Amino acid sequence: MPRSYVREASRGLGRRRERIGPIIERLAAEHSDAEIALRFRSDLELLVSVMLSAQTTDVNVNKVTPALFEKYRRPEDYLAVPVEELERDIYATGFFRQKARAIRGTMQMLIADFDGEVPSRLEDLVKLRGVARKTANVVAAELGHAQGIVVDTHVRRLSQRLGLTRNEDPVKIERDLQRVVPRADWARFPHLLIWHGRRVCDARKPRCEDCVIEDLCPSSRLRG
Ligand code: SF4
Repeated sequence: MPRSYVREASRGLGRRRERIGPIIERLAAEHSDAEIALRFRSDLELLVSVMLSAQTTDVNVNKVTPALFEKYRRPEDYLAVPVEELERDIYATGFFRQKARAIRGTMQMLIADFDGEVPSRLEDLVKLRGVARKTANVVAAELGHAQGIVVDTHVRRLSQRLGLTRNEDPVKIERDLQRVVPRADWARFPHLLIWHGRRVCDARKPRCEDCVIEDLCPSSRLRG
């Protein structure tokens, strides 16, 4: 759908700040189980899971991590084996060489700079090797210190369809969302969009007829 149309249609539905409250409320009621799909039991496992989830699905990561986390319990454990062994252990998540190097670099920094603990501040997380802003945002939010809004492919698509942003660049989309989404909702908002995107607002075939925010969405196929 041309974004000029979304802009035009948004005018008849009220301003972004007026729509965002009901959008969040209704999505929260519809997807009360919306939460991170990765499985982890500690801050360290969370960080490693999110790093492994780049370029693959959470389901794929969850298949690998039970055995991985039994074997590697502390940052030191990831450094105690040859890198080839770690590569084999994470092979099924793809990009295993890059990910193994990033994980080992991050573990070295955790030990050297953070007493072996995972920091919760975004500015510290983004210093870790291979930890980009999206990864840092996911980790910080799960640790209860959301300092930004995670923008993945679902968040980008739905934010555009809902007329919450006109941008393509994830950093600019995040900035637009931060202006309109109440800070208290920064952690759960991406989960709501991700689950709504998976279940209803499909990339190719959005099911607008079954959508609880259809009357708030300028991109509804039922409109006009
Ligand atoms: S109305 Fe359609 S396009 Fe808009 S959010 Fe719902 S499913 Fe997506």
